[in-house]
Amino acid sequence: MSTRIVLASGNQGKLRELQRLLQSLDVELMTQGELGIDDAEETGLTFIENAILKARHASNASGLPALADDSGLAVDALGGAPGIYSARFSELDDDNSTDRATRDAANNQKLLQMLDGLPDSQRNAQFHCVLVYLRHATDPTPIVCHGVWHGRILTAPAGEGGFGYDPLFHVPSTNCSSAQLSAEQKNAISHRAIAMQALLQQLPSRL
Ligand code: IMP
Repeated sequence: MSTRIVLASGNQGKLRELQRLLQSLDVELMTQGELGIDDAEETGLTFIENAILKARHASNASGLPALADDSGLAVDALGGAPGIYSARFSELDDDNSTDRATRDAANNQKLLQMLDGLPDSQRNAQFHCVLVYLRHATDPTPIVCHGVWHGRILTAPAGEGGFGYDPLFHVPSTNCSSAQLSAEQKNAISHRAIAMQALLQQLPSRL
């Protein structure tokens, strides 16, 4: 019998990406939204804590094993900021009238201002993605997969693709911003891709 897993996110894009990744396994993935489960409160201070909180909340509410992710950008010169606050860095997201593109542009603008005048050598940054799998809400041994994608913050946006901080994230191996990569190129090398590959290695023995 296949294992039903709840994804602690309502994001259909993430659902499709994970479904594709896990298609070789006997699992049925559904979003917490489909099950009428609301969002968890993200009260942790790290990506790992927040991913665990989200997975535990979804597992608790559904009685099913749960998968959650948390991701963001960490800039060395800012002590790891914006980190877990990446989505709400510009503090505009309390305003429901703000759409994602406007919020992303404000976040990028704020980041550029904070790094203004810093030379390339001090603009190192990483995208992080943490995926957590819990077999049940009190599982003491979650699978935790942490993908890290190293790059550097540009001095001006470049490229139209991707989302979030992609136009400011210089990828050394391709010598362009992550917004200048095709979706296929990005999905092959990103923080999310690294975390997902690790999950694919570890999940089969835990189902
Ligand atoms: P979430 O975990 O998908 O909600 O992402 C949190 C925030 O981190 C997003 O709103 C973006 O600002 C940033 N972020 C995470 N992954 C990426 C990425 O692949 N490209 C650009 N920004 C990202």
